[in-house]
Amino acid sequence: MARARHVLVVEDERDLADLLAYNLRKAGYEVTLAHNGTRAVEASAKAGPDLILLDLMLPELPGTEVAKRVRTNPSTAHVPIIMLTARADEVDQIVGLTIGADDYVTKPFSMKILLARIDAVLRRAQEGPSRDAGLRLGAVEIDPSAHRVLVEGRPIHLTLTEFRLLAALFQAGGRVLSRVTLMTRAMGPGIAVTERTIDVHMTAIRKKLGAHGAMIRTVRGVGYRATMEPETAEV
Ligand code: CA
Repeated sequence: MARARHVLVVEDERDLADLLAYNLRKAGYEVTLAHNGTRAVEASAKAGPDLILLDLMLPELPGTEVAKRVRTNPSTAHVPIIMLTARADEVDQIVGLTIGADDYVTKPFSMKILLARIDAVLRRAQEGPSRDAGLRLGAVEIDPSAHRVLVEGRPIHLTLTEFRLLAALFQAGGRVLSRVTLMTRAMGPGIAVTERTIDVHMTAIRKKLGAHGAMIRTVRGVGYRATMEPETAEV
């Protein structure tokens, strides 16, 4: 039998934490609970979770800071994070550069939907990026087998979702991909996210690519493409 996947649940509302643990265990997951930010950072390193379900508003350390520490510790940097947030307008912050969550769910949520999202994120993490040989565009190189992106030869850190979006754009070889296509490639089929989520991820990718971010082009009314063609060709 396959090893049970391990989810670290970080939630300070005890009732909700217990409810989450109950449902996750019922669905076959192993669960570790942390009720504050400090404990969450400790548990992420000690428990070796496959996924972290992270509440944004936490005592001691906010969820943003927990995510940052998880991302900067090499042993946990690649653990997918799903953020729980009470407000839809926090989403920019969550998906954005500073936090690097792979997905988010707004409260109140349906347990069924949350479990589906957890399953999807874990599946993506397991499959990893496509097994294609390295892809290069200008000074940006993707090494799918090592799950690495190099800019001018130096590695940069992308979240799993960002990595898959960038890989999809590179694999498209300059063709435009619609937001719906990008969502499917990056997040798996049937995952309901708003188109704006894709835009927020793309903004984060551009920032991380620095001077090379301009290769990610928004094609108005259609979607995105990655190209080295001069910007003027975009009309
Ligand atoms: Ca909270």
